[in-house]
Amino acid sequence: MGLKKGKADRQSCTSVSQPEPLRVVVIGGGPAGLATAIGFGNFGHKATVIEKRASPADIGTVDRDRSYPVDVTARGMAALKALEIDEAELRGRGFLHVFRGHAAMDGATGRIARKMPLPGGRTGLIGTRDDVVLAFEHYLKGRKDCDVTLKHETTVVEFDTDRQTVTCSDGYSTPYDLLVGADGKNSPTRAFFAERDTRLLVTPRKGRVGEVRYKTFNLDVAEKLDVLEEGWLYGVGGPPPDNPVVSRTPLFDADLRKVGRGVGIVPVNDAPSDALSSAFALCKSESDRSLLHSKLPKKLLAASTEAERQSFETRCLSDASGGFVASKLYSGHCAFVGDAAVSPAPAGQGVNHALDAAASLVTHFDAVHFDVEHGLEHWNDERMPDEEAYAFLSDANKPLWVQTAVDAAALVGAHRDGPYMKQTEERYRDLTTVHVQLGYIAIPKPPPPKHDDDDLADLQGLAG
Ligand SMILES: Cc1cc2nc3c(=O)[nH]c(=O)nc-3n(C[C@H](O)[C@H](O)[C@H](O)COP(=O)(O)OP(=O)(O)OC[C@H]3O[C@@H](n4cnc5c(N)ncnc54)[C@H](O)[C@@H]3O)c2cc1C
Repeated sequence: MGLKKGKADRQSCTSVSQPEPLRVVVIGGGPAGLATAIGFGNFGHKATVIEKRASPADIGTVDRDRSYPVDVTARGMAALKALEIDEAELRGRGFLHVFRGHAAMDGATGRIARKMPLPGGRTGLIGTRDDVVLAFEHYLKGRKDCDVTLKHETTVVEFDTDRQTVTCSDGYSTPYDLLVGADGKNSPTRAFFAERDTRLLVTPRKGRVGEVRYKTFNLDVAEKLDVLEEGWLYGVGGPPPDNPVVSRTPLFDADLRKVGRGVGIVPVNDAPSDALSSAFALCKSESDRSLLHSKLPKKLLAASTEAERQSFETRCLSDASGGFVASKLYSGHCAFVGDAAVSPAPAGQGVNHALDAAASLVTHFDAVHFDVEHGLEHWNDERMPDEEAYAFLSDANKPLWVQTAVDAAALVGAHRDGPYMKQTEERYRDLTTVHVQLGYIAIPKPPPPKHDDDDLADLQGLAG
């Protein structure tokens, strides 16, 4: 397959070192991995995705304990455009809804107090994380000219960095020019490289003060779902992260029948972990005093089944704490994108961050004419300030984060309507820039390379 002519004029470049399409192997088939693979495919390269889980096309996108609404806006939408992924095509047969904006629902009456459409008539996409994955996989089926192979239910068991080959648990083996670690928060790929590269420091994140813990909540009673209009993300009784967020999301069962219902997250406690037991106690108290009933208006509760309300009490708590930051975004011929680079992303930015990183990697390679060796180093220099800003924004404790965002945005005249930085692309970009300029970044810089054995042991200790 001939390469598509990219933004840079390849003919005029004297440093073309890779005239053939790149062989890109992506480990992890989440939003970051699939967007990267499709992006490279759309630019004329050959990508293979290795994903340990089954495809949502086989198991559906319904996970009562994990499904929550995610929206693609601002940087995420810009990333799709940069990756030449047509948004309407991605929505396919309804795997994602058009996202129109945020709405404030009165916590007592369930009435819609205010609607905040995305500015300038813009729209985004909304669904669950697995709806996003399903949409990408479906998009690929319709794109015979996009050379991407998906391999599910397998993992890499051997990296041969000399021969640039990976071998998988099912015996599949493939060479690569560029490896992409997109295998999420605990990235085994990043761990493999961190063990061998003293300049790749992986720092575990400490829990954040004021971290929100939440449970997912499902609204299954179709005839009562009119309270939620398609395409809106509802803050119930106040803004997130301290209040519930719900939306009507597509959701598909294992036969890919649309079960379209409402899903949301209900914050259970925003206090430090030692108060968790009392939050559980609260959930298990009499129903009229329960947290669920106190957080959701009757109109919404009526759209849930009795079984769901009961199972909410014993449902596992989730939280977005923990995660890692890496001192650089590549090692050897491997790049890290999405949660494998920085996790967690700031609230509500996980999928956007994943797509943004994918677009930055693919478009950078388009511009540097596929020179993997130097391309990764340059991409790292270009991308790192953004990753640091994402890390900062998610690292600060929530009240500080919101306040800092407000203060910082005021400095650039952004942020007129409230404390949510994701509502406009400009606002988020301004905030990112401001946070970098103000030096609010808390990621340790890698020390210069040392060769002494004791020093190496120190570094490995740091990498944890
Ligand atoms: C409560 C909550 C609300 C959120 N809301 C939003 C929101 O509103 N908007 C938003 O944009 N984001 C949101 N997010 C974040 C978002 O879901 C994630 O950050 C995002 O999915 C990260 O994408 P990723 O592809 O980097 O990683 P992942 O989605 O974690 O994908 C990594 C993939 O790698 C696979 N994998 C792991 N190990 C291996 C291996 N050894 N071999 C092969 N495959 C492997 C995994 O199975 C997985 O499929 C939210 C998150 C939470 C917790």
